[in-house]
Order: sequence, then structure tokens, then C-alpha cells
Amino acid sequence: MDYQKILDSINEEMSYRDVTGQVASYIPELAKVNPKKFGMHLYCGQNQHYGFGDHEENFSVQSITKVFTLAMTMKIMGEDLWKRVDVEPSGNPFNSLTQLEQESGIPRNPFINAGALVISDILVDHLDDPKAELLAFVRKITGDDEIQYDGTIAASEKSTGYRNIALVNYMKALGNIKCDVEPILDFYFHQCSLAMSCKDLAKAFMIFANKGNILETGENILKPESVKRINALMQTCGFYDEAGEFSFEVGLPGKSGVGGGIVAIHPDNYSVAVWSPILNPKGNSELGMKALERLTTLTGVSVF
Ligand code: GLU
Repeated sequence: MDYQKILDSINEEMSYRDVTGQVASYIPELAKVNPKKFGMHLYCGQNQHYGFGDHEENFSVQSITKVFTLAMTMKIMGEDLWKRVDVEPSGNPFNSLTQLEQESGIPRNPFINAGALVISDILVDHLDDPKAELLAFVRKITGDDEIQYDGTIAASEKSTGYRNIALVNYMKALGNIKCDVEPILDFYFHQCSLAMSCKDLAKAFMIFANKGNILETGENILKPESVKRINALMQTCGFYDEAGEFSFEVGLPGKSGVGGGIVAIHPDNYSVAVWSPILNPKGNSELGMKALERLTTLTGVSVF
């Protein structure tokens, strides 16, 4: 497969001018991003990776980090995790509080904010320094020691994070949060602020396309059975309340973030990341979804 040729034709076909949405504005810092940015990178082997545009520029990966924290938590808790978080699509916006009361504080899945806050609670409970350990995990699977949190974005999250503050307190009242809420929120706001490029993300997500093995070293970092669970969750819950549409259009497991990034994988084959900050009304990158639809159409390969 000539992936570079396919990516080049996607780059030629598409532009930010083709989309009508807006960049995320509910976090003040994210509203400052240049809406014209567009990049894409695909990894399918150690020395086989391809990209175009702004694919090496760092951006705020936001909810994409929820996949990394889920992976770290599965390493600690294994299948016991599902006593604290469910595995069903929510059909509601990512920051919704409405389903928690009738479901006794058990979030619908690990990729909505409530689920990610329970995951943060578990990591704060088990790790001495969860912020440092998350960075170490991401640096290890990318081989990039420069990856950092963006302190300005983390501060912006904190100053406007009323719904996340409400979610964690509500779940504490319902008995599904063990630690103090302050360190959980501090860890959560930092994980949202992680800055990575499409190239970093595509490389990192090769562990989910490669049965839990790190691409460059071959080291196994996640059990294949955990990878199966995480990929299933990405397929069914990775795109806010648009997971059905993403499966329908693109046909790959993946995860998006309100920074305009999307990462998707084809198991045993490739990992691909795209970035365009203009979001559709459901909070997914509008151009990113179109680009990935073209990728699976032009290659003729998806999980379906
Ligand atoms: N930082 C965001 C929040 O918790 C996460 C947004 C996202 O889904 O990417 O509000």
C-alpha cells in the first residue's frame, strides 16, 4: 500500500475551508488555536511512517489522553476496573451529569469525563506521582522524552472546570471516589493539557494496533486481552455521542479530543492521527473525520 500517496491525495483534496464548525471555546486557551492547522501521520512499522502538513506540531490532545490513563489503570486493576466504570456508550455529551444518579455513581464508560475522573481517582490512589508516571508512560511508548504538559492549558482547564468539579464531588457523594477531590482534579486537568503531535500520537497508539507491544523495542507493555477491551471501547465510546457516526463513516476504533485531534487504529496493521482544530457540533474534528473517511475508502480497509 502506498500510504504516502494516499495521504498526499487527502491533503490535496481537503482544506479547512471545506468545513463550517468552530474551534473549541469553552476552555479560553483552546479558542486561541489557529483554525487553519491540518496535519496527518500514519505509522505501520518501525521505519514505515508517513505524514503531511502540521503533523509534527504539538497541540492539546485533550480527551485522547483518556486512552493512556485507561491503559495504565488496566495494568493496575485488570478486570476489577469494571466494578467502578461501565462499558456502554453514553449517548450523552462528554461532560454530562445526568446518568450518574440513576446508575449509582458508576460512569457509563471510561472516555466520558465522569469515567476519566474515576480512572484519575484510581491512579492517584495507586501511584506516588501520577502526573510524572503518565508522562513516563507516554514518553516510553513514543520514545520522545520531550513530551510535556502545557501549564497554561492546565490552568485554563482549572479556572473553568466547574462541571468536572461537580462530577467528581457528585461521584464522591455517591461512593465511587476514594481520594480527596483536589489531587484528582489536578491530575485530570494536567492530563487534558498534554501536548503531542500527530506523529507522536500515531506512534503511541501503535501499542493498540500491535497487541500491546512497543513498536521500536518490541517490549510488551499491555496484555493483549487489555488491548482487546480498550479497542472495543474506542470503537463504541471513543467519539462522544457520535461513536455510531464515526464507525459508520470511518470504521476504525479511535479516540478524539476537543483540541481537534483524532487517533484511530487498524489492528495488526496501522495507527493514524489527524489534527484540525475546527470541531463539528458533537465536538469531533470536522476535517479530521472527513480525512479518515477518505483514508479507509481509498485504502479499502477498515475493521468492517
Ligand atoms: N478538558 C476537557 C474537559 O474535561 C476534555 C475535553 C475533551 O473531551 O477533549 O472538559
